[in-house]
Amino acid sequence: MNKPIRRVVVVGASLAGVRAAETLRAEELAEEIVVVGDEPHQPYDRPPLSKDVLTALEPPEVGLRNAQGLDVTWELGVGAASLELAEQTVHLTDGRSLAYDGLVLACGARARVLPGTEEMARVSALRTLDDARSLRAALVAGAERVLVVGAGFIGAEVAASCRSRGVEVVMVEPLEQPLVRVLGAAVGSLIADLHRSNGVDVRLGVGVDSMAEDGVGGKVEVRFSDGTIESFDHVVVGIGVVPNTGWLDGSGLTIDDGIVCDETTLAAPGVVAAGDVARWPNPLFGELMRVEHWEHALDMGAHAARRLATPDDQAGPYAPVPWFWSDQYDRKLQLAGRVLPTDEVVLVAGSVDDMRFCALYGRDGKVSGVLAVNMPAKVVRYRKAIADGLTWEQAMSETEVKEPFVVGRQG
Ligand code: FAD
Ligand code: NAP
Repeated sequence: MNKPIRRVVVVGASLAGVRAAETLRAEELAEEIVVVGDEPHQPYDRPPLSKDVLTALEPPEVGLRNAQGLDVTWELGVGAASLELAEQTVHLTDGRSLAYDGLVLACGARARVLPGTEEMARVSALRTLDDARSLRAALVAGAERVLVVGAGFIGAEVAASCRSRGVEVVMVEPLEQPLVRVLGAAVGSLIADLHRSNGVDVRLGVGVDSMAEDGVGGKVEVRFSDGTIESFDHVVVGIGVVPNTGWLDGSGLTIDDGIVCDETTLAAPGVVAAGDVARWPNPLFGELMRVEHWEHALDMGAHAARRLATPDDQAGPYAPVPWFWSDQYDRKLQLAGRVLPTDEVVLVAGSVDDMRFCALYGRDGKVSGVLAVNMPAKVVRYRKAIADGLTWEQAMSETEVKEPFVVGRQG
């Protein structure tokens, strides 16, 4: 067994960082572990923030269980301000410095904001526990009409949660369909239909030109790109995220839409990255990718921790089939793989009309992904097959059902 690393500093006290610290401790890969997190809270989980935190009668417990009782030094409520690679030192925002022998960068991403809305109390993103608490407070206080800007994952889940509370929801998206760049137009139109049938006023090809708050306790007046002006009690902005890499400017690391690592997750000697902030060449897909989902943050956190303790000539690649789920109304969407909007999509089980189905995505002769709605077992099976290199031809020859993925009612 390799000698444990003397001191590891982990920047980011969330999913990827905590999993990295947990792995280092459980596998005795480090002697001292310091976890630095700029949020004031104990580490918590984000998926409930757009779901149960908004809908449950009592706010649920969201603390990360694997952080509780973990034998590390926590530095919470303080940020990493800069990194000196040659000195192996992280400087903190409160003026202190931490020397390290190994460094895990798990500083995630922050919500993109609509310029000009930063100071508006009733316009918020949904990234942090504080964001979720303020949206919950608005809903509990009786918000009747909510605008959701962006029909991505946040938009879709917040719209569903608000509807379950009986709140009127308008959702605007400048693109022609929700999630079109992730799932393609056909599946996007199905998501639009799902929301419309649950009472959401989905407006596609529409953006926001400007917003103004109307005094204390008043409304938010929104001017849309189609020229209409309407008032809302609260606005939730879900227009994507930006990796938290500003503090690494000038450090010498390669920053390009995230921290760029090699295929083993190494960003520089003795420095690894994981989770939403990390971009690495996934050999399984031959693509430099950054993945913004929960399971990935866990897996890459563990892989990066082990990588730190592994000699270069023994380090293996990080080659997952990315997977995520999204809960919307009574539907559980799951996608495994790496799909493009231009991929071929074929229905292989279930029925689109019943909104219970499994579809395969393919490109370049390979199965690139599997999407299932309320059919979890199919995802497990195809995910493994994708990892094993399932070809499109094999997949099509094995399945009895194979219909072009067509949605009856276009959004
Ligand atoms: P983050 O969770 O972003 O954590 C990074 C941490 O580092 C943050 O606390 C940040 O403040 C801190 N930090 C940043 N810069 C510094 C610095 N300089 N110094 C110190 N600390 C710093 N995924 C799914 O697969 N399914 C879901 O249903 C799902 N639901 C979601 C719902 C919501 C509302 C959100 C926001 C995300 C959801 N996700 C979901 C995505 C998933 O939660 C993220 O992919 C995951 O949180 C990424 O973990 P991370 O540790 O890489 O980064
Ligand atoms: P997202 O999924 O990237 O979607 C953002 C959407 O907003 C996209 O459709 C985007 O279109 C659109 N958009 C961009 N700029 C806009 C603008 N100015 N006005 C209106 N719409 C605009 O991001 P998100 O929904 O904000 O989610 C944030 C993060 O949380 C992501 O990392 C996401 O993966 C994660 N999350 C995941 C889940 C899940 O996996 N179930 C659930 C919630 C959150 P473009 O494509 O043109 O940019």
